[in-house]
Amino acid sequence: MKFEYAPAPESTSIVNIKSKNDLFIDNEFISSKKGSRFITINPATEEVLAEITAATDDDVDLAVTAARKAFKSWAKLAGAERAKYLFRIARIIQDRAREIAVLETLNNGKPIRESRDVDIPLVAAHFFHYAGWADKLEYAGLGSNPKPHGVVGQIIPWNFPMLMLAWKIAPALAAGNTVVLKPAETTSLTALLFAEICQQADLPPGVVNIVTGAGDTGRAIVNHPDVNKIAFTGSTEVGRFIAQSIAGTKKKLTLELGGKAANIVFDDAPLDQTIEGIVNGIFFNQGHVCCAGSRLLVQESIHDELLSLLYQRLELLRVGDPLDKNTDVGAINSAAQLVKIQELAASGEAEGANRWSSSCQLPANGFWFPPTVFTNVSQSHRIAREEIFGPVLSVLTFRTPDEAIAKANNTPYGLSAGVWTEKGSRILEVTSKLKAGVVWANTFNKFDPTSPFGGYKESGYGREGGRQGLTAYLFAGENE
Ligand code: NAP
Ligand code: MG
Repeated sequence: MKFEYAPAPESTSIVNIKSKNDLFIDNEFISSKKGSRFITINPATEEVLAEITAATDDDVDLAVTAARKAFKSWAKLAGAERAKYLFRIARIIQDRAREIAVLETLNNGKPIRESRDVDIPLVAAHFFHYAGWADKLEYAGLGSNPKPHGVVGQIIPWNFPMLMLAWKIAPALAAGNTVVLKPAETTSLTALLFAEICQQADLPPGVVNIVTGAGDTGRAIVNHPDVNKIAFTGSTEVGRFIAQSIAGTKKKLTLELGGKAANIVFDDAPLDQTIEGIVNGIFFNQGHVCCAGSRLLVQESIHDELLSLLYQRLELLRVGDPLDKNTDVGAINSAAQLVKIQELAASGEAEGANRWSSSCQLPANGFWFPPTVFTNVSQSHRIAREEIFGPVLSVLTFRTPDEAIAKANNTPYGLSAGVWTEKGSRILEVTSKLKAGVVWANTFNKFDPTSPFGGYKESGYGREGGRQGLTAYLFAGENE
């Protein structure tokens, strides 16, 4: 039965968006001398929210210079002192959580329920976690005197703007590096709010610098000669380009790229829980999730039963105003991403898969795509091989565990996977054979700052989170 809910909109009065936004360099908001401005919108309404600066090579150089100057004292500061700043940032994030969540939803299109209950609590948790590490670097596993790299350039995508910022900045700072970070072009606003939080926390000037802009700004960071390490999260295509650009230099690199995860359901899985896991796996954050469970592998004997339960469940998902507290699925982040999803969905039909979409009403303005499931998908179809990065599930079947494992691993990616079964022994057997950085058993899309996250193959290299995420920002220094 479908319940009707009265609208429950979250108020936006808590956010204060500046109409024109500058760059954050050396603890000041400064305007670019030559940089142009571009607009950022609310993807759920297409309303203009603000103007953002496109940082030029000169601006990036200024930011790197500030970070270099700050590095000398920041790296020398006792770990316990750096920890105090990180704890302070974590507490301010908790204090201003509602404001950050509303701003994230306005600029990204994700449901307020997710930004409020998932993204922003995890952001604070990451800063708390790495604050705890700052005075314990000798336990990171790199000897008794590990050293930070220096100035780190960080480039992040639009799907979890504030969370990706936290994954990058928290461990870098704990380890004693200073940073120049570029948010994604479509979602810069929470990064600029984070800059305000750095000021509020009295972080020393130059430790965090935020330069907004598009691909050119990212390229300027990557190519700057005084940057010691690049940490990138985004598409495999851009990741490959970055790896080529810095080949032959001494720059260190970590890449968190795309994925095409298999979510494997065996015939003994508890179906009701599994349905929730499938939904969370691919419809969380509109499927704009690198580790999304976008390929459902179902044991043939339960295919029809599972699919009919899934369709019933998907009809209950509330698609629409991301600021409404009852909304399950929000807006697609940009017109360009919507086109990409539409194009891949069309290829699914053209190649012979069967398309089912929820009958939900989509809003007139903004960028929307209904929760969609393709059945009768074969491994050669584009929708089984390419990352759609949208609310689209491709369903394949299998008969034996070996077939499930072979199909799950038949992808150029290797970021995540899921297994649903009542049998503990089968969980151990299957998870050990899946070539993926993260494998969830009887759950999906669960994140924790203590747990390392990252991929194999075309999903990139390096880990974020936990001790492993810390070591990405350190090298083994000489013993004292
Ligand atoms: P993207 O186009 O690769 O962009 C990522 C970031 O790189 C953005 O800030 C982008 O700026 C910037 N950029 C673009 N071209 C660049 C260049 N030549 N040099 C340096 N920087 C450049 O990816 P996206 O479309 O934003 O994000 C979606 C992709 O990210 C998906 O493939 C997804 O799987 C992946 N992802 C992976 C993870 C993970 O942890 N593994 C997490 C989230 C997303 P603009 O914003 O101006 O394009
Ligand atoms: Mg892009």
